[in-house]
Amino acid sequence: MKSVKWVGAHVSAAGGVQNAPLRANEIGATAFALFTKNQRQWKAKPLDETTITAFKTNCKKYGFSADQILPHDSYLINLGNPDKENLEKSRFAFYDEMARCEQLGLKLLNFHPGSHLKKMPEQDCLKRIAESVNLAHEQVGSVITVIENTAGQGTNLGHRFEHLAYLIELVEDKERVGICIDTCHLFAAGYDLSTAMACESTFEELDQVVGMHYLRAMHLNDSKTPLGGRVDRHHSLGKGHIGLECFEFIGKDKRFNGIPLILETIEPTLWPAEIDLVQSFHS
Ligand SMILES: [Zn+2]
Ligand SMILES: [Zn+2]
Repeated sequence: MKSVKWVGAHVSAAGGVQNAPLRANEIGATAFALFTKNQRQWKAKPLDETTITAFKTNCKKYGFSADQILPHDSYLINLGNPDKENLEKSRFAFYDEMARCEQLGLKLLNFHPGSHLKKMPEQDCLKRIAESVNLAHEQVGSVITVIENTAGQGTNLGHRFEHLAYLIELVEDKERVGICIDTCHLFAAGYDLSTAMACESTFEELDQVVGMHYLRAMHLNDSKTPLGGRVDRHHSLGKGHIGLECFEFIGKDKRFNGIPLILETIEPTLWPAEIDLVQSFHS
């Protein structure tokens, strides 16, 4: 299975998480991402047995193994929050996200590292994020925490490969930490992806600084923001400043086989065509 490309999109879980695999199947996906709760609210009612069983049944029916599914945590969570009380709130919400993934039989949880909010030095904030991850690993037994690179908008950390490497260095259980690289965020953070040659050198740098073996997933998005613009604005593949060559590069490169490649592009009606396009590059 590692020899194939798993391509999909972040699909809606409206009406219950059990609907996500159905929607992924409808668009011809072989991977999908989802929120296991409303991403804009702190609290969610616990998952009930019926929902859990239905989710597992539907995943099996449509051929999605846990390796092909990339749950994403709530946007409200900031694991590096400088404020103690808000940090606690974020940590508890994150433990709950981890537990929900575990209940659903999922292996991965994708999250954005966190923000220093101009209230603490970058390095201290990164230490705090790593501490949050270590605590989460103690709380929940089995889920792999997957750190996403960011565009570096505002005070968000995780926009330099060095940030990701430092976080991994501080995480005690290296088996339970990985990275998800978002192409739009990477480009907006100043890493060129606009030609195959630029992609080659950017991913070479990723390998040098972090290590490609930590790569557990990708978000495939074009960017409305130019190179180094530090603003997170996704676009459909080939329509932004990155352009198609990058997605052809990823489609052809075997280092991106056997991990979820997730579209978070802005036109869901284009997802089936975008999935086919990425798959068409795969030899
Ligand atoms: Zn993303
Ligand atoms: Zn984004």
